[in-house]
Amino acid sequence: MIGLKAKTKAKAEPRFPLAALARHRMGSDGRGVTTLVAGAGCPLRCAYCINKWLHEAKAEPVTPAELYRRVRVDDLYFRSTGGGLTFGGGESLLHIDFYEALRPLIKGWRLSAETCLNVPKESVVRAAKLFDEFIVDVKTLDPAIYRRYTGKPIGEVIPNLRYLIGAVGPERVLVRVPLIPDYNDAADAERTERQLKEMGCTRIERFEYVIR
Ligand code: SF4
Repeated sequence: MIGLKAKTKAKAEPRFPLAALARHRMGSDGRGVTTLVAGAGCPLRCAYCINKWLHEAKAEPVTPAELYRRVRVDDLYFRSTGGGLTFGGGESLLHIDFYEALRPLIKGWRLSAETCLNVPKESVVRAAKLFDEFIVDVKTLDPAIYRRYTGKPIGEVIPNLRYLIGAVGPERVLVRVPLIPDYNDAADAERTERQLKEMGCTRIERFEYVIR
């Protein structure tokens, strides 16, 4: 009897679209000395985006082991300062399969994600188990201003933020609220901050975009 052997396709190893690495950062993206790992791709199109080039960047697809090999040179800095890797971009939470494969390689480093949270809820649920800290660039919680500034509806941002605060606790979520020239004003930033506090956010950073 001739048996038919089912062909099983091996699952491809997840890759991160690496656009840039910036070492030895302090005070800008999480505690301690960090390396910023910038990935290509973002669902938004913010009017003042300083990373527009990342949207279409010719990224280098790296495996978890390849990235680990490149960043481990700063192991001592990360461990002695409580720092580690901060994933940004672009939108960091587009690459959850990659982080799930990377996480077991990381020991004693802090993993942070910079995110706009305008991603499917499933990505946030999975990310909550992988990252030590989230830096949320919320823009504004006013749907009309959000759409005008980012080019996209506010979508899942508010439910995702509520979920994240509940899942990891407010101390692990820093929410950044900008004053955006020509798009919002102090009253809008004030309203957004109030709404964030009502949602349970305790770490809120207000700042102003400087347009040159
Ligand atoms: S979320 Fe960030 S990377 Fe994406 S378009 Fe806005 S500013 Fe640029």
